[in-house]
Amino acid sequence: MTRPATHAADESSIGTCLFCKSTGPFTTTEHVIPESLGNDDLTLQGEICDSCQKYFGKEVERIALSKTPLAFWRAFLGIKTKKGHLPSVDLSQPRKQTGFLPSVHPIHDNVGYTFHDDGSASADINDPQMVQDIREGRKTSFRLVMTPKMLHVLGRFLCKVGIELICTTDRRRARSAALARARHYARFGEVEGLWPIFQFSTGRLADLKHSKQEGNEAVEEVLCYSYAVLDFGNRYLLFRFTIGTDNWVICLNDPYPHPEIRNAFPDCHLNLVWYSKGQLGDRKESSR
Ligand SMILES: [Zn+2]
Repeated sequence: MTRPATHAADESSIGTCLFCKSTGPFTTTEHVIPESLGNDDLTLQGEICDSCQKYFGKEVERIALSKTPLAFWRAFLGIKTKKGHLPSVDLSQPRKQTGFLPSVHPIHDNVGYTFHDDGSASADINDPQMVQDIREGRKTSFRLVMTPKMLHVLGRFLCKVGIELICTTDRRRARSAALARARHYARFGEVEGLWPIFQFSTGRLADLKHSKQEGNEAVEEVLCYSYAVLDFGNRYLLFRFTIGTDNWVICLNDPYPHPEIRNAFPDCHLNLVWYSKGQLGDRKESSR
């Protein structure tokens, strides 16, 4: 059975904030993809209120860009900050668990990376025991665990970007009832469970950066990110965000990890990165 796609928006919601339905003010420009990932032209004006923009910047984007795999790619790809610095990334977990969603995992290695102008990279380790284990050959790789808290932030980030992307071409569809849960999850973070995220890898690291000649100058081209919104099977409205070799996929109109979503990417191996409600306990978190 297929459900009809619901694109109709309540007409009265046009002109109010996409996420909180307030009447503004709307004085600042919303970047659909954060400026710190290099986006300077995909923007919205008059759709997301100043207060929601401020909230997303502080509570969603800042964490997504410093503590999830997006942070790693941002540093690896050398996407410079607005001040022209190469970002470094600190993937260490908090010292102790706070809040309801697990944010600390015992096997996670607390490391950071700094990428340098000459293309080299160094690992930043603030743990003498780990340094000794590496020197003496007992440790040969780092384990980075995607905690529920990390997936929660990544899911909210993807919902926010996907909905805003739709809004750039179809503001009614972005406000449709079918996307109400995703809008609410992005903005208020209330969870009955985590929003499911699928991940797959494409391409090779070596292909992400390549040099080309422009006149007398060698210019390095870096593929930073790409994205797509796709209607699959007249039922699933999917958003794909690609950064580095990682592809992240969420279903904007249904927070359930339906296995057939994998068929939208037939040649790829999609992993579901998710914790079910039973794995999270039954309390709710509100980050309002
Ligand atoms: Zn708002």
